[in-house]
Amino acid sequence: MHTERIPVFPGNPNLKSYEEARATFRWEDVEREFSWHTTGKVNIAYEAIDRNVLEKGLGDKVALYYSDPARQEAITYRQMMEQSNRFANVLRKHGIGKGERVFIFMPRSPELYWSFLGIIKVGAIAGPLFEAFMEGAVRDRLADAEAVAIVTTPALRKRIPKEDLPHLKHIFMVGIPEGGLGEGELDWHAEMAEASPETDIEWGDREDPMLLLYTSGSTGKPKGVLHVHNGMIQHYQTGKWILDLRPDDIYWCTADPGWVTGISYGVWAPYLNGVTSVVRGGRFRPDDWYKTIQDYQVNVWYSAPTAFRMLMSAGDDIVKQFDLSCLRHILSVGEPLNPEVIRWGLKVFNRRIHDNWWMTETGGQIISNYPCMDIKPGSMGKPFPGIHAAIIDDKGNELPPLQMGNLAVKAPWPSMMRKIWKNEAKYNEYFKIEGWYISGDSAYMDEEGYFWFQGRIDDVINTSGERVGPFEVESKLVEHPAVAEAGVIGKPDPLRGEIIKAFIALREGYLWTEELKKEIIDFVKKGLAAHAAPREIEVRDKLPKTRSGKIMRRVLKAWELGLPTGDLSTMED
Ligand code: ATP
Ligand code: MG
Repeated sequence: MHTERIPVFPGNPNLKSYEEARATFRWEDVEREFSWHTTGKVNIAYEAIDRNVLEKGLGDKVALYYSDPARQEAITYRQMMEQSNRFANVLRKHGIGKGERVFIFMPRSPELYWSFLGIIKVGAIAGPLFEAFMEGAVRDRLADAEAVAIVTTPALRKRIPKEDLPHLKHIFMVGIPEGGLGEGELDWHAEMAEASPETDIEWGDREDPMLLLYTSGSTGKPKGVLHVHNGMIQHYQTGKWILDLRPDDIYWCTADPGWVTGISYGVWAPYLNGVTSVVRGGRFRPDDWYKTIQDYQVNVWYSAPTAFRMLMSAGDDIVKQFDLSCLRHILSVGEPLNPEVIRWGLKVFNRRIHDNWWMTETGGQIISNYPCMDIKPGSMGKPFPGIHAAIIDDKGNELPPLQMGNLAVKAPWPSMMRKIWKNEAKYNEYFKIEGWYISGDSAYMDEEGYFWFQGRIDDVINTSGERVGPFEVESKLVEHPAVAEAGVIGKPDPLRGEIIKAFIALREGYLWTEELKKEIIDFVKKGLAAHAAPREIEVRDKLPKTRSGKIMRRVLKAWELGLPTGDLSTMED
């Protein structure tokens, strides 16, 4: 079982061995790296931006390369500091401060990042929303959080139902709408131009809240997850050791700041480590992505399985048109990373893709393929030094290797959520087993301590008494040349309890026939196990996905059973 291994690449890690790091690591040592360790004055935005300018001499270093089809800019750390100071002053002028919720709802742009940092500098709680949200999704989140202000653009304004949001007093408009500003709307640019580039940062406590992020909605209604400044300890250290960030690195995290990855690893980890970060606006296109890597000479690239699968289906010829030899380190998060994708990455990038597992609720990476460790394709790696993760049963007993169970983490860790907004009962559910955080995912650990994701607890299929994780079946399916993507569910069956049903999207050029279906089923039977092969396969043009690119198995299941699909606010068009 799991004999495939990919050893460490020469030149990649400049790190201690995993075992040595685990044996000697202490979070308290990391705390000494922050200015608040001596001053007692905490603000994550200061540590990430201002400190690089004021204490580390990085003022003229590029912090952000922004590009979209219409705009290219290089923004230094000093400019990031001054622009976020200005926005902090704008907020103060309107009486917005500590603990209040200020949302951001706009496409990726420098203004988004300046606004975000400004919100944190006044001690308010930032609520980033993905630009593609429709009115209902925006209403739900703003109402739940009782947001007092929002930063947005004229194009998105009609999706903010002011009349339903009595708490919302200020709308900062980045750009002037046709017909001018409406009631409660303020001209972001004019306000910024008038504001001073200096500000007094609101100092606080490590436990002060800073970020309210809603989960992806893969399994149900999104939850408002509250994070605090203290998370910086983990963002910094995982940035250093898992992203392997080095001072001169150009780093590209492809996630939108509306999702946790786009904040923890799109803002905090790179800036706390003082590196240069690339943000690309606009839509996904394989050639543009490769061009971004080539043009900016990206060294470290953090993306998601859905993106890698799309790049893989776009074919190898496109990759060959670009010089991507600048890439040193590649990572993936958000969904299980199929072994086939890792093999493809080796072939076309000559690099390993390092899978890592974590959640909105964990705030930072928990389990990862540490850069100086062998990769076993299909495994999400091992717990970060300083973190104890385990597979436990429903009573909290740690299970021996190879037994499937609840993937759990010993609480606390630095970037752990502190609340589910206005939903204490939900929060308590995660901690219902004394001392543990229960992730809701199912996994097992092998004899060498590598963790293997199986599926969401509710997605694990029980067929003829065998427990089958949907991920293994999906991964085998996408190994077949005809299959671009696959989502697998358990379908109730009077005889077998459940049968395995696969929904697939075909790669271009393939026609769906009975022969092909039989061939694919045989392929899974031979490659995995007879009981794990789907009994039914249905072809769809596209699989239902969240806007962050995750396959929504609950929607497949609802379709299959003719049940209501539940909250679809985060589903792609
Ligand atoms: P919701 O909680 O609203 O249903 P979600 O769980 O998809 O949505 P996120 O917090 O964005 O919201 O995602 C965390 C989940 O993503 C994990 O619980 C896990 O199921 C999945 N995931 C993340 N990384 C990996 C990975 N490397 N391998 C397998 N699964 C992963
Ligand atoms: Mg979740």
